[in-house]
Amino acid sequence: MLVVMQAHATEEQVRAVCEKIESLGYRAHPIPGSQRTAIGITGNTGAVEIGSLDEMSGVQDVIRVSKPYKLVSRDVKEENTVITFPGTDGGFGSRNLGIVAGPCSVESREQAFTVAERVAKAGARFFRGGAYKPRTSPYTFQGLGENGLKIMAEIRERFGLRIVTEAIDSESLELVAEYADVIQIGARNMQNFSLLKKAGRMRKPVLLKRGLSATLEEFLMAAEYILSEGNYQVILCERGVRTFADHTRNTLDLSIVAAVQRLSHLPILVDPSHGTGKRDKVLPMSRAAVAVGADGLLIEVHHDPDRALSDGAQSIFPDQFDELMAEIRQIAAVVHRHVQEPLPQPTVAKAAS
Ligand code: PEP
Ligand code: MN
Repeated sequence: MLVVMQAHATEEQVRAVCEKIESLGYRAHPIPGSQRTAIGITGNTGAVEIGSLDEMSGVQDVIRVSKPYKLVSRDVKEENTVITFPGTDGGFGSRNLGIVAGPCSVESREQAFTVAERVAKAGARFFRGGAYKPRTSPYTFQGLGENGLKIMAEIRERFGLRIVTEAIDSESLELVAEYADVIQIGARNMQNFSLLKKAGRMRKPVLLKRGLSATLEEFLMAAEYILSEGNYQVILCERGVRTFADHTRNTLDLSIVAAVQRLSHLPILVDPSHGTGKRDKVLPMSRAAVAVGADGLLIEVHHDPDRALSDGAQSIFPDQFDELMAEIRQIAAVVHRHVQEPLPQPTVAKAAS
């Protein structure tokens, strides 16, 4: 159910409706919009017993949301969700594209700083790097753990980049939430409902990657888990799905961008690195992702990908990232979006020692 408040409803009226909803045993989610506030009701397993909600002052309408996902839906919030970060002009969901770039894994301080310097110089506002890696084989590099998080915190200080890094379980989630600006939940965890709920109780934006074989509805329902716990700052990310095609690692489903944007107010990024698994496909699919209207990109970059401890084959060189940024800058303009210029960087040549 959704309570639509009148355009001029006061804060007290909104609060009174929320209190009434909670007194009925449900959870109220007031979602302000440019025209009016809507209040989503969750916590019900069947039909909501609305009592006299529709007669309360300031209420315009009480409507049933027929879709299984509610808080992520445009029925609840018409305008796009814009996620901002204090102290930076980087964000997700505005006219500016959110560009997240960095290595698959943080391997050492020197490696992470080398890549961070280049992606910052190219204009990215977000640095990605895994400290906890969900690897197919238990015998491959599993990440530096908290030391990796500490290196990324230094990168934020040094380059002004905001940090996106993955939590793979409940334990790493607590640490990631402490150090990172954005908590990534990976494809393999898209339906780890207890992890989603816990991320929903964190007060940091969550970047949720599409599961390897998730439908659009499953993807949106996974996001709904996070919002239902009170965290409305969710960024979706298409990263390719499993198909019969074997010319790429996964099949990058760009049409989901348009499908998500029609149904949901949440920003959606495209990850052509995992989406193709091949370095030479990253640039063309990035162009396409921006053209289709993605709210940003997630790109793996490594200065020495042949020696990368994970995902080297899909990591592009820093020079290729420069080229990618130059090209998407032009394409973005055609679709009325913008790629920000690099932030001025401190002149000290190298912080890595
Ligand atoms: C990653 O971003 O490095 C990653 C492991 O992604 P995914 O969960 O999409 O495989
Ligand atoms: Mn990776």
